Amino acid sequence: MPGKSYNLFEMVQTQFDHIAGILGLDSATADLLRNPMREYQFLIPVRMDDGNVRIFRGFRVQHNDARGPCKGGVRFHPQETIDTMRALAMLMSWKCAVADIPLGGSKGGVICDPHNLSPREQEQICRGWVRQLASNIGPMNDVPAPEIMTTAQHMLWMLDEYESIHGTTSPGFITGKPVGLGGSLGRKEATGYGVIITLREALAELGIEPQNTVASVQGFGNVAQNAIRLYHQIGGKVVCVSCWDQSDQTSYSFKKKDGIDLDTLLSITDQFGGIHKDKARDLGYEILEADAWLEQNVDILIPAALEEQITGENASKINKQVKIIAEGANSPTTAEADEIIKKRKIFVLPDFLANAGGVVCSYFEQVQSNMNYYWEKDEVLGKLDLKMTSAFIAVNELAKRRKLYMRDAAYVIGVSRVAQACKDRGWV
Ligand code: NAD
Repeated sequence: MPGKSYNLFEMVQTQFDHIAGILGLDSATADLLRNPMREYQFLIPVRMDDGNVRIFRGFRVQHNDARGPCKGGVRFHPQETIDTMRALAMLMSWKCAVADIPLGGSKGGVICDPHNLSPREQEQICRGWVRQLASNIGPMNDVPAPEIMTTAQHMLWMLDEYESIHGTTSPGFITGKPVGLGGSLGRKEATGYGVIITLREALAELGIEPQNTVASVQGFGNVAQNAIRLYHQIGGKVVCVSCWDQSDQTSYSFKKKDGIDLDTLLSITDQFGGIHKDKARDLGYEILEADAWLEQNVDILIPAALEEQITGENASKINKQVKIIAEGANSPTTAEADEIIKKRKIFVLPDFLANAGGVVCSYFEQVQSNMNYYWEKDEVLGKLDLKMTSAFIAVNELAKRRKLYMRDAAYVIGVSRVAQACKDRGWV
């Protein structure tokens, strides 16, 4: 996240250098891939509700489009930085390549805090962002999506501005639109379901029946809720979830030995995925401290809340029963924790494989919007299953064949597919 002392871009470049070494990439290819191909930085003047004009800084970073149009979210954040954009754009390239969708990686944003802006002011920022980029983004070159603090409403304002400038309807310009206005059925479920599809395959690989497994989950928002729903459907039991309690401004773990009831727990969950501890206690949950989700005697851990949650300090608390960690969140595991997990030989489903269901379904939205023909939910989820299963198989087979850690194997596939596309095009 922006504002932290470490630089995310330097971190992803270090990871990239490690993988470039494993792959033996030549220096031109490595130079091309360790930096974004294009960056746009610009100012957006907005007349505020009080009559004054304020100037906002906007960004779009396009890391690589050798495999297809760039794809990546637009964030509104007061501490946004160009280096965070660069890092996230690069990670999007690898994620799209691992999921084998024909898209490249990008990311964008505006330095602002929507909490302090009226809807009209936010609309002006969205429209200004598109005006600055109108000839550099579009359904065939770079497709934005919602990210931190941006919503379907922001996407519709951006779409409307883009279509006004180009004098056409162009629903494939942007994803994350509401269903009925160009959005895809199944998008809500896609990320959480994708996590469980890869988990199902990992269990099969390890010869474990899902109905004999127990899991503990960090987070109870969109990703976690949908992951739990599908995990229950394949027979698993969740005994602990950890999430934020807005009333106490702290997070807790909520435990039920016999397994949580998803719908009952949802009935006391706020719109941001938070749970009031007193309401959980009334439902018979044990209230434990925030990190307790990690210490449970379970087979599977699913971090699906925030980045950097499994750290060098708490990784040693992971119960020795744990066999699989399925990363629903982006970057939930720090480099120090990753070393500990690797030594313990826990099977890791790395974030940009496990949570790729979101971008896979965004790609489906883009395809449906470009055709202006929308699929039934079952069709979307069936195609999602196929993509996620294939991605798992590719990463797992490479990991076995070359005796690589799953995270490294996912990186090797992502980076090598993008490198190959650059070579095939004659760029390097
Ligand atoms: P969300 O905002 O819907 O839910 C976040 C959850 O985390 C909430 O339940 C919240 O209570 C909990 N939380 C916040 N602080 C916490 C803390 N300190 N300890 C424990 N729980 C805490 O978000 P989401 O859409 O479910 O996304 C979760 C993660 O998955 C994020 O890292 C996100 O970047 C990543 N991700 C999401 C998608 C997607 O499609 N939504 C796609 C890819 C990756």
